Amino acid sequence: MSESAGVAAGAAVPTTSARLVEQIRDEVLQRQRFLITSHARPDGDSIGSQLAMAFALDALGKDVRIINADPPPPHYLEFPGVNRIEIATEVAAGVEADALIVMECGDLGRTGVKGFEPYFIINIDHHVGNRMYGTVNWFDESAAACAEMVFDVVRALDVPMTREIASHIYLAIITDTGSFHHSNITPRTFDICRQAVEAGVNPAAMARRIFDSNSFGKLKLIGALLDRMELADEGRLAVLYLDDAMLEACGCTHNDTEGLINLPLTAREIQAVVFFKVADDGVRVSMRSKYDVDVRIVANAFGGGGHKNAAGFTVNGPLDEVRDAILDQVKTAVAEGVQERPTSVV
Ligand code: 5GP
Ligand code: MN
Repeated sequence: MSESAGVAAGAAVPTTSARLVEQIRDEVLQRQRFLITSHARPDGDSIGSQLAMAFALDALGKDVRIINADPPPPHYLEFPGVNRIEIATEVAAGVEADALIVMECGDLGRTGVKGFEPYFIINIDHHVGNRMYGTVNWFDESAAACAEMVFDVVRALDVPMTREIASHIYLAIITDTGSFHHSNITPRTFDICRQAVEAGVNPAAMARRIFDSNSFGKLKLIGALLDRMELADEGRLAVLYLDDAMLEACGCTHNDTEGLINLPLTAREIQAVVFFKVADDGVRVSMRSKYDVDVRIVANAFGGGGHKNAAGFTVNGPLDEVRDAILDQVKTAVAEGVQERPTSVV
C-alpha cells in the first residue's frame, strides 16, 4: 500500500507524506506573499492544482499571484479563477514573494518561466524523477494527480472545501487519470472525488464541460487526424501526425489538440499511441498507453518524462531523423507491457 497523508489516520508513526504535509502547512501559515506556478503548456492537473491552492491561500488571507508560461486551453477558461493566471516567461524584476509553490514539475525548467531560482520553493509533484529542486520537496509518485496532494494540503490548512476548490481538484483528477482510464487510480482517488462531490461538484456537468466542449473545427480535426493515422506493430501501435496546415484547414490552433491522443486507444487492439505534433521549431511527442505498457521509459530516453500511461518529450530537429528510433522504443514498451488477453473486469 502506498503511503499517503490522507489515509494515515491512526498510524502511530507519521508517514513521510504526512510529515511533509505538516511541514508545508507550517511554512504556508507563517508566510504572506505567494507565487504559484506549474508546467508550460498547462493541462487539467496543472490548472486545477494551482487554482485549488490559490483559493485555499485566498481563504487564509494570503497574497497570491499565479504565473504560467502559457495560457490554459480554451475550455478551461470558464473555470473559476482561471482569468487570474498571469502569462509570462520571466518573473519581472522586483517581484517579491515569501514563497513560490511549484506544482507538477519534475524540475524548475518545466515551468518555462525564468527567474524562479532565488525564491523559497515549495515543490509538490507526482512525476517519477523529480529533481528535488525546492527548499521543501514533497514528491509522491502514488498520487494519481498532483491535485490529490493539493487536497491533503488544503485539508491540513483547515480551510473550508469550497465548491471552487473542489471543482479544481476534481478537474485535475478527471483529466490526469485520463477520465479514470490510467493505472494509477487508487481508493484515495475516489475518496477525494467523493469529498469533492459532497462539496458541490456536479460530475455530469464537469465531464460535459471538460470532454464535450469541442468546436466544430475540432471535430473536423479529429476526422483529419484519424484519416492520417498509421498503424504499426500489427495494429497494437497507432501513430498520429499533426502539422500547422492541418490545424489551419480545420480552423484550429495547438490549443485545440488536448485529448485527441486518446482517440486511438478506444480501439481494443491498440495498446499505445504516439502523437507527433510538428512545428517549425521542432516536434512535440506525446504518448499514451494502456495498462502496463510503460511509455514513460521512452520519454525518459528522449529527455522528457511523465507517467506510465501518459508521457511526452520534445525533439529539436527534423522528425525523419528520430521517428523510427522512437517507434522502435514504443514497440519494445508494448512488447514488454502488453496484456495478451483482455484484463478481466471482475
Ligand atoms: P502530454 O503528452 O499531455 O504533453 O504529457 C503527458 C505527461 O507527460 C504529463 O504528465 C507531462 O507532464 C509529461 N510530459 C510531457 N512532456 C514532457 C517533457 O517534455 N518533459 C517532462 N519531464 N515531462 C513531460
Ligand atoms: Mn499531473
